[in-house]
Amino acid sequence: MPITIQKNSIAFKSFISVQTRFIAPFLSDLYRTSKQWFSDFLFPSYTLQVSKTCNLRCAFCPLWKKYGDEEHTLPKLNDLIQKNSFFKVFPRRKTYNLIGGEPFLNTDLAYILAFLKSEYIKTRVWTNALLPFDAYEKALPYIDETVIYLPSSDSNEFNLITGENGLDKVMETVDFLMDNKKKVALHFPVRLDSIGYLPLVYELAYKKKLPLVIHYSEKENLNSETLSYIHRFFHVQNVTVYISNEVTKKSSILCHALPYPGLDEGWQMYRNLFYETVNRIRRRFGL
Ligand code: SF4
Repeated sequence: MPITIQKNSIAFKSFISVQTRFIAPFLSDLYRTSKQWFSDFLFPSYTLQVSKTCNLRCAFCPLWKKYGDEEHTLPKLNDLIQKNSFFKVFPRRKTYNLIGGEPFLNTDLAYILAFLKSEYIKTRVWTNALLPFDAYEKALPYIDETVIYLPSSDSNEFNLITGENGLDKVMETVDFLMDNKKKVALHFPVRLDSIGYLPLVYELAYKKKLPLVIHYSEKENLNSETLSYIHRFFHVQNVTVYISNEVTKKSSILCHALPYPGLDEGWQMYRNLFYETVNRIRRRFGL
């Protein structure tokens, strides 16, 4: 004979009470935690472009031509933070990579970083390290890591690539950041004509006990011998190899290793997440 439960019965009321007081909140917490865990696992970081201008003149880069042009700054990040809408536009991630152009040319950088830190987000700034020290000071307390663009360890070559006789100044900035207890990594973008400097850049990083990020684009058409040489660094301590799969003219901006700036809204944000995830999987398995 089937068991029927009356709506007004004590058993039914107890069931509803247990359900609303314990099971529903438990399931909702479980859902929230696993969703956050899953999202942290798949997408631990996000790349946010905070400046579209630059103080250098890298031969292959279109951005510097816009240096000083105010319409290329990005004031709307401030607005988003003030209107409490930042995370409606950008995803909440454990780490934010802040890139440019040159991020420190955004005069609101300290404010943006302070906001991210107040949200317990790790901040990593990709910089060419060629601004006066006081350009960094306001932002320093809110920076966890800096990644310094080092396209060559040879002064003349550095000058040729960036249009600035600045290698010594970069190394001074490295020391300045380290003196301020900031984590510093060097970043070497590999191009056909710069691959020869990789051993020297590695040696420099090794001597200074700094992590090295090597970055190359699949569009660079490096031959298989060069690729296997670069891939050996997958197994070298303190070295990270990023592979970009850039498909737009942004590929010519080599001072950051993550493929897509996040500020372009819409589907490009998802493309950013997609490529970062693919690169993470490749790095994880040494592909
Ligand atoms: S590649 Fe980077 S450092 Fe060089 S000019 Fe472009 S934005 Fe500046």
